[in-house]
Amino acid sequence: RQRSVLVGLLGRGIQRSRTPHMHEAEGRRHGLAYVYKLLDTDRMGETPPDIGSLVAFARHFGFQGLNVTYPFKQAIMAHLDRLSADAQAVGAVNTVVFADGRAIGHNTDRSGFAASFRRDIAGRPHRNVLQLGAGGAGAAVASALLGSGVETLRLHDVDAGRAIDLAGRLAATSGAGRVSVAESVAAAAAEADGLVNATPVGMAASPGIAIAPELIRADMWVADIVYLPLETELLRCARAKGCLTLAGRGMAIHQAAFAFELFTGIVADIDAMGRDFDAL
Ligand code: NAD
Repeated sequence: RQRSVLVGLLGRGIQRSRTPHMHEAEGRRHGLAYVYKLLDTDRMGETPPDIGSLVAFARHFGFQGLNVTYPFKQAIMAHLDRLSADAQAVGAVNTVVFADGRAIGHNTDRSGFAASFRRDIAGRPHRNVLQLGAGGAGAAVASALLGSGVETLRLHDVDAGRAIDLAGRLAATSGAGRVSVAESVAAAAAEADGLVNATPVGMAASPGIAIAPELIRADMWVADIVYLPLETELLRCARAKGCLTLAGRGMAIHQAAFAFELFTGIVADIDAMGRDFDAL
């Protein structure tokens, strides 16, 4: 009998997500009856159930796991039995696995960015990095960078409190002096081997570049986690200067592949999932 898998994405305003298609196509390739539902709280009436109830419903209705996105990645942690090392390091969860009566939280944004970085950037110098944006995804990216050989990470966010909070949380686990708020973006950029954009700047709704283009040098690598559009203005500008670039596509695909593996115990075909992502 065909093995069935029921999972979903819990979030708000997620109707355009590419994740269900990527997961279901990968499930079919492995001969699974794989169903990936959107649990969109924007579609749950005027007063959606609270997050704890939604986790309980998913469990009782036989879901094997959930992906979790905005705005629940932190709130969900209080409703889980255990956190993986990745989720603990980030302080947020984007994947939950229900097994043996327990709910375990993981963070494949972190492992997904780390895998994408390892694949395309890690061969280049990356001792000093400047990261723009210290929000939800920025926390996963910063933690991944500190776990990927980056020695000194400078954070900049227009909301200074967010950069201070994230630097403080990461400093507690990554060792003194390795992560701090950039006093000056220009000075941090001048010292950086690479630059990462973890702000929404570059998406259609917030076009532009989150850093003055003249601070980008040809010998830097430049990564963007925005993936809509695939090539942001930042990446276009960096490529024109001759920089090695890393697009947000890699993180998006790897986080989905790692979640698939957690849900099913089956190794995902990352290249095939990438083709599915591109076809959307
Ligand atoms: P968020 O709102 O939690 O955080 C964004 C942060 O950027 C905020 O702290 C904000 O103050 C800061 N910011 C905005 N404009 C800035 C600027 N000009 N300079 C410096 N800081 C600025 O959002 P998030 O969940 O962290 O997501 C950020 C972006 O990452 C999203 O827009 C999405 O496109 C992308 N993302 C990609 C992936 C992927 O798999 N590739 C995964 C998650 C998110």
